[in-house]
Amino acid sequence: MHFHHHGYVSGDPRVQPAAGVGIDRPTQLPDEVDVLIVGTGPAGMLAAAQLSQFPGVTTRIVERRAGRLAIGQADGIQARVSRPSRPSASRSGSSPRPTASPRWHSGSRTPEPREDRPQRAHLDDPGGISEFPHLIVNQARVLDYFGEFMANSPSRMAPDYGYEFVGLEVGEGEYPVSVTLLHTAGPDEGQTRTVRAKYVVGADGARSRVRASIGCTMAGDQANHAWGVMDVLANTDFPDIRLKCAIQSHDGGSILLIPREGGHLFRMYVDLGEVPADDKGAVRKTTIEQIIAKANAIIHPYTLDVRNVAWHSVYEVGHRLTDRFDDVLPEDLGTRTPRVFITGDACHTHSAKAGQGMNVSMQDGFNIGWKLGHVLEGRSPESLLSTYSAERQVVAKNLIDFDKVWSTLMAKKPEEFENPPSSRTSMCAPPSSPRAL
Ligand SMILES: Cc1cc2nc3c(=O)[nH]c(=O)nc-3n(C[C@H](O)[C@H](O)[C@H](O)COP(=O)(O)OP(=O)(O)OC[C@H]3O[C@@H](n4cnc5c(N)ncnc54)[C@H](O)[C@@H]3O)c2cc1C
Repeated sequence: MHFHHHGYVSGDPRVQPAAGVGIDRPTQLPDEVDVLIVGTGPAGMLAAAQLSQFPGVTTRIVERRAGRLAIGQADGIQARVSRPSRPSASRSGSSPRPTASPRWHSGSRTPEPREDRPQRAHLDDPGGISEFPHLIVNQARVLDYFGEFMANSPSRMAPDYGYEFVGLEVGEGEYPVSVTLLHTAGPDEGQTRTVRAKYVVGADGARSRVRASIGCTMAGDQANHAWGVMDVLANTDFPDIRLKCAIQSHDGGSILLIPREGGHLFRMYVDLGEVPADDKGAVRKTTIEQIIAKANAIIHPYTLDVRNVAWHSVYEVGHRLTDRFDDVLPEDLGTRTPRVFITGDACHTHSAKAGQGMNVSMQDGFNIGWKLGHVLEGRSPESLLSTYSAERQVVAKNLIDFDKVWSTLMAKKPEEFENPPSSRTSMCAPPSSPRAL
């Protein structure tokens, strides 16, 4: 943060003067907007944060929850994504502050393989790949930072909670996308309304309805893989509890261990295995007691005595990729520019083991955000928008290919390694690691 970059400024330079649509911004969602973003996850909030820097553009972001995400989900911010100026690089020197109270990843020890102990491989950047740190910050807090940034932007943006996206149609005219929304909270709960937009960004997660409404299909794994995820305070004799590492038991079963903010909590991703096709959601009923028991079995002969569970979930996901990231069919390429885009988990899903989900989703949001701002302000031709799908599809494909290799490697039993992972480099730099991060 360069407080004195352009000379001395009094006050907080993160709070920018209101301008354009930020002056007397209507509190209620208007009937017509330039950009409607669906979903306040990392992809949607980053796109909104980008667009909040364009006071000539009316952007609204709707969310079906009644309020902000309180806790949970992703936590890894990779080095290049933590670049402080990232969300506003195109417009100003101000930034959200993901470095306010994270855990900084650093330090690592070479494991000492022993036959009577689970194998541990320490994972992290070897150092020197970026001037910015690899951070652990709770996803809810990351979203709050983007919310704070938007509120302090010239367009004074804030999410519109309590609206569920139901469907859309693309027609003609100045506002060609007609979106049906359902009120999920407040006095109008249960009623629908229509909002017309010039462009729509679907950031509505893995079960995206925006994706379905533009006819995109997800291809990839038939089956999901499940992890029990828990952020806990615990007594343990496991020696590396304050180091990020992968733990692999001799009898099968693995854990990804991530120390958390504050110095006491840690997260465990406990591998619950493949989800059978006829599971019908049964895996999601796995209790915290079962997750803890499985963790104890994996780290045996060490023990884990969980004293407090700050958050837990069962995370079920497969490797899948959408066929396109916008509403232009292959046969129409070059004949028209897109009106509807999808981002983040709506386009690509993969394991949490590489810690990339939140990161690549935010990068999708970044890519489409600045492009929409520039096109709507008349600085760039509409054809710029066609580059979004082309650019992000290849990144998502690389990520999924990498994650397949990575999660297979991490699921191996120690004896299956030709060369046991005795150094972190061997676990951290597979050749097909995604580059555009
Ligand atoms: C338990 C768990 C642990 C994870 N751990 C990691 C990790 O360690 N590292 C990592 O990088 N990634 C992790 N991920 C994945 C990560 O959370 C996602 O990749 C990331 O959140 C995707 O961001 P997104 O914005 O695309 O979608 P989401 O975060 O899923 O956000 C979608 C938003 O859209 C809203 N929404 C959905 N449908 C509608 C609708 N019809 N109308 C209006 N709103 C709608 C949802 O309420 C939600 O707020 C984890 C996920 C889970 C569930």
